[in-house]
Amino acid sequence: MTAPLIDPFQRAITYLRLSVTDRCDFRCVYCMSENMTFLPKKELLSLEELDRLCSSFIRLGVEKLRITGGEPLVRRGIMTFFDGMKRHLDSGDLKELTLTTNGSQLERFADDLYAAGVRRVNISLDTLDEAKFAEITRWGRLAQVLRGVDAALKAGLKVKINVVALKDFNEDELFFIAAWCAELGMDLTFIEVMPMGDIGNENRIGQYWSLKDLRTKLDEEFTLTDLPDRTGGPARYMRLEETGQRVGLITPLTHNFCESCNRVRVTCTGEIYTCLGQEGKSDLRAPLRSSEADAPLEEAIRAAIGLKPKGHDFDYSRQELGGQMTRHMSHTGG
Ligand code: SAM
Ligand code: SF4
Repeated sequence: MTAPLIDPFQRAITYLRLSVTDRCDFRCVYCMSENMTFLPKKELLSLEELDRLCSSFIRLGVEKLRITGGEPLVRRGIMTFFDGMKRHLDSGDLKELTLTTNGSQLERFADDLYAAGVRRVNISLDTLDEAKFAEITRWGRLAQVLRGVDAALKAGLKVKINVVALKDFNEDELFFIAAWCAELGMDLTFIEVMPMGDIGNENRIGQYWSLKDLRTKLDEEFTLTDLPDRTGGPARYMRLEETGQRVGLITPLTHNFCESCNRVRVTCTGEIYTCLGQEGKSDLRAPLRSSEADAPLEEAIRAAIGLKPKGHDFDYSRQELGGQMTRHMSHTGG
């Protein structure tokens, strides 16, 4: 038996979030600047390398794999990767294969994803207003994403909608979005905006809408029951009694969730980040490429997890950006 991955704070690492590209067909204002410079293709792990990397993590005890980006579904040939991961689901070693997507390509890929064993997807969608959608994503078209949501539901995928809570932007749509999700049987999660990367001229503190305030607003309209559900991540859940739906709040800035952290992130170039809110990283690409055997890679994974920090330092409390990260969310994959 291979020893499981345990970090210095006795947390078992069972969840890998893997970014398969830094590219995207959108330019969401809180995520990217309009003129992004992307990595040269040769820097990226190949599809075969992504497969070897994930297979090693699974051998070391990872049971849940989330594919993200950039936009994971714009990576050329990505379905080959998903199809390959199915063998780990079939063997029972991998319990869940899932992805976070902006939904733009789901009309094309939803059925194939289901066939590869994916059962749930997170779709990011911050507004149901066409003009506001174009404004926030810069390059996105709402109708295309709505067709993607529809295709995902028709394919049998369970959908969770991720909404970044943005002050003076989608505050007024809170009830409408909740009702839309309830009608289509979709879970809903709100995310607080995080200080990641240079995004050009946008004002980050101006974008920040505390989920505490969002909750107070929801409370005016619905009866909220806190749920004990925990996923090892920053989400807290509640049920809206009137609709029966589960609503999650991801509050990295106002809650400390690090004590139960079970996850690590790997970028599309093979850098492992053991904490979303810290700069510390290790390279897995060199050991991956150094040998056809997986031993050097697995050793590097263990060494990186041996350095996993206790927690993050994000802090907006004094109206300054504390713990600001220089990398973009699209780099580590949100
Ligand atoms: N392109 C895919 C998507 O949008 O779902 C996957 C990658 S995206 C980086 C993952 C998630 O991170 C999305 O839900 C997005 O809204 C969120 N995100 C991006 N930048 C963020 C920021 N600065 N603060 C909070 N969430 C952010
Ligand atoms: Fe692209 Fe997702 Fe970032 Fe929007 S949030 S720019 S869709 S990676």
